[in-house]
Amino acid sequence: MSVSMTPEPTAAPAPAQGVPYPGESLEVHDYDVVVVGAGGAGLRAAIGAHEAGARTAIVCKSLLGKAHTVMAEGGIAASMANVYPEDNWRVHFRDTMRGGKMLNQWRMAQLHAQEAPDRVWELEEWGALFDRTPEGLISQRDFGGHAYARLAHVGDRTGLEMIRTLQQRAVSLGIDVYMECTISRLLKDGEAISGAVGYRRQSGQFVLFRAPAVVLATGGIGRSFKVTSNSWEYTGDGHSLTLWAGGSLVNMEFVQFHPTGMVWPPSVKGILVTESVRGDGGVLRNSEGRRFMFDYIPEFFRAETAESEEEGDRWYTDKRKNRRPPELLPRDEVARAINSEVKAGRGSPHGGVFLDIASRRDAEYIRKRLPSMYHQFKELAEVDITAEAMEVGPTCHYVMGGVEVDPDTQAAVGVPGLYAAGEVAGGMHGANRLGGNSLGDLLVFGKRAGDAAASYVSGLGGRPAVADADVHRVLHEALLPFDLAGASGEKKVENAYELQVELQETMHDLVGIIRTQSELDRALKEIAVLRGRVPDAAVRGGRVYNPGWHLAMDLHSMLTVSECIAKAALERRESRGGHTRDDYPKTDPEWGTLNLIVRWDGREVTLDRQPLPQMPADLAELFEEKH
Ligand SMILES: Cc1cc2nc3c(=O)[nH]c(=O)nc-3n(C[C@H](O)[C@H](O)[C@H](O)COP(=O)(O)OP(=O)(O)OC[C@H]3O[C@@H](n4cnc5c(N)ncnc54)[C@H](O)[C@@H]3O)c2cc1C
Repeated sequence: MSVSMTPEPTAAPAPAQGVPYPGESLEVHDYDVVVVGAGGAGLRAAIGAHEAGARTAIVCKSLLGKAHTVMAEGGIAASMANVYPEDNWRVHFRDTMRGGKMLNQWRMAQLHAQEAPDRVWELEEWGALFDRTPEGLISQRDFGGHAYARLAHVGDRTGLEMIRTLQQRAVSLGIDVYMECTISRLLKDGEAISGAVGYRRQSGQFVLFRAPAVVLATGGIGRSFKVTSNSWEYTGDGHSLTLWAGGSLVNMEFVQFHPTGMVWPPSVKGILVTESVRGDGGVLRNSEGRRFMFDYIPEFFRAETAESEEEGDRWYTDKRKNRRPPELLPRDEVARAINSEVKAGRGSPHGGVFLDIASRRDAEYIRKRLPSMYHQFKELAEVDITAEAMEVGPTCHYVMGGVEVDPDTQAAVGVPGLYAAGEVAGGMHGANRLGGNSLGDLLVFGKRAGDAAASYVSGLGGRPAVADADVHRVLHEALLPFDLAGASGEKKVENAYELQVELQETMHDLVGIIRTQSELDRALKEIAVLRGRVPDAAVRGGRVYNPGWHLAMDLHSMLTVSECIAKAALERRESRGGHTRDDYPKTDPEWGTLNLIVRWDGREVTLDRQPLPQMPADLAELFEEKH
């Protein structure tokens, strides 16, 4: 493998072959498959493509090992039945569909439930060291919405172990990696993919990747919201690249607000407090000290049996006759409950609620099971979670919506040669993702995407062409902010950071956890105004590591995905999963048969309603059982 960092590219920068642009040298590389993103999905896709014989490269916006996947704490959901022998893929499939409020692409949910155990064992074969049960099996922990404890984990650092293992595998296979390189446009030859253009963050050098297949594994969109667990890279690039290339997105109205992000101090607002705290016994209390989640258990989950109290603890009994703490209801339910408590004036001093594990588990247990959380609160908030409750509140965490793909191959609908896997792909999680289902998703569909991309390339007769004019257009657009700065005397120019703050506030205030028609209308008007202002964002300074320039470019995708979310949220007149409408508070069975498909018409986002694919009878039967 060659891991390249600016300014030294992997291969010596080749002069642009027939792609002259005034004053520019272009670094050019040829591959069969280019994987954009080095999180779990990207690494697994690249390993799959490479092992299938494709010349493969990984391109990532930040450093290798720094993707979101590394931050995943709780674990990988897989029905290995190590803790509950009665667990199996059908139960996992049913939990996933129910968690997603039945809007999931059923075939993806099925493949995920069937293949996740194999992908976990494969990780172990490649060197991952999971926590063990007393019998020596891979330990599995409880998480919201899962009928059985099934998250394979490594303390609260599962993502770190997963990335470490996949990275080591990719390195040992010799896959080329281009770090700190942001892809800003896909290229096509006719309808099919022919490559991608990006720039190196440190030097500003433009890079052209000529490749017949591109796998997008770019993760989420959280940076469009003011309070988020997502880091700076998550500006919805893969979502926008797909739209601009003629593909479509599905389920964009469904954004997951994780119930527990830090709320204090302001500098760390939004940083995730893992669900493992609740999985390991933590409970939520309001300012009156009341475990308020008992007031919010939907009929859907609760059996006739009411709460029970044993050994000083409280539980409710679910439809499967399992005792469940109500803090482990699906995330959308818990986030809305916290929101309601805060609105009712029963919140914590800094606008959240209290998450208390200190009064329920001893200090040694907490430090052993939740080492990252212990340090996170100690260092960032000066709170000792073994002695005091944490203050927490909802934070924008995950987007269920994403690239519309073929469920078996992850091929993007309508764009031959384009694939998407991981958080950037839509369908798998429906209206709401269950915790732990993302890490399984990355592995299962990362592999499938990589395998399918390699197979697509091997079936091609020749290589697609890259048109000079297309490359010129990308470079021209990218350099525009510098030209504007030069002309700033004559024209009013905009500041990219101010535009970003305005967009984040709009999305937080008007397209957040609870939505209404009037606010969504306002949001769309404000997004349209921002869209008109973004082309006037001027950037000063040079191209060597200039974050203002990078942001000016990212704003295009941030605005595009924001428009997708707001438009789809306005169209879906019901409440379901990660989409709550104050003016349509009920789940509407008619909407339960429809997906919203988002496309780009060259100027704005358009919407279409599409019936859900029909679930086969043998799977549909699973939902008729009286549990
Ligand atoms: C704090 C936190 C904790 C979580 N805990 C869990 C958990 O316990 N269990 C679980 O199942 N899920 C969890 N999740 C969700 C899960 O981690 C993510 O959904 C998942 O890791 C996404 O993986 P990915 O491979 O799709 O993308 P990511 O890991 O997000 O990686 C995206 C990659 O794309 C690159 N990229 C983006 N845009 C570009 C571009 N334009 N050009 C080049 N590269 C680009 C990035 O640099 C990065 O390398 C958590 C998420 C967070 C934020």
